[in-house]
Amino acid sequence: MATYVYPQKVSDTIYCPKPLSAKLIILPFVIKKHRASRLHYDFRLEHAGALKSWVLPDGPCLDANELRKAVLVEDHKVAYRDSERMIPAGLPGAGPVMVWDYGYWLTCQDVDQAFSAGLLKFELQGKRLRGSWSLIRKSIGLRKKREHWELWKERDAEARSLLKGDILVEQPNSVLTHRTLDEIARNLPPFPPTQSKIRRRHPNQRFLFPNDLEP
Ligand code: MN
Repeated sequence: MATYVYPQKVSDTIYCPKPLSAKLIILPFVIKKHRASRLHYDFRLEHAGALKSWVLPDGPCLDANELRKAVLVEDHKVAYRDSERMIPAGLPGAGPVMVWDYGYWLTCQDVDQAFSAGLLKFELQGKRLRGSWSLIRKSIGLRKKREHWELWKERDAEARSLLKGDILVEQPNSVLTHRTLDEIARNLPPFPPTQSKIRRRHPNQRFLFPNDLEP
């Protein structure tokens, strides 16, 4: 089970409109890693009883110079927020889905207004992604075309150049069960953290598992 730790501290870099009339909104978010017909990440922000959802074909990035494509898709059900499973063949999105990150997202913006304006600035307090981020609409969906947005990491202490490493490579497994997509596909049960550490420890791979990686 995902344990959502309610934010105790809000960074002072969080975007707040002036005058400061809007109240701070703090709601869960989740990022799924999903190997359907192609590998992608699903970025979902809870809002108004549903999960606002974007597909990130290349995943999120900590580098403030990288703009990551985010395709707006249908809202998803909050009930499936933390589900990690193998979607059987024949169903839409068939393939393994893992919880790659989760936590809270925070904003001072009027969220509905921000969605219609195509600019949402927010803070993430996740297990892996933190700090200030923006979602910016690049094109409005016409007829059956989907809306294209971009996900930007804002410049702050949580930003990091890609030259210093790619979080998607460093953290390939489930943040919830530590399983790989293949293990989820084979429906292997989650293994205890201590076991996972032993199993993952390989001299050549040590750099993949920094000390701050949670069990
Ligand atoms: Mn997906």
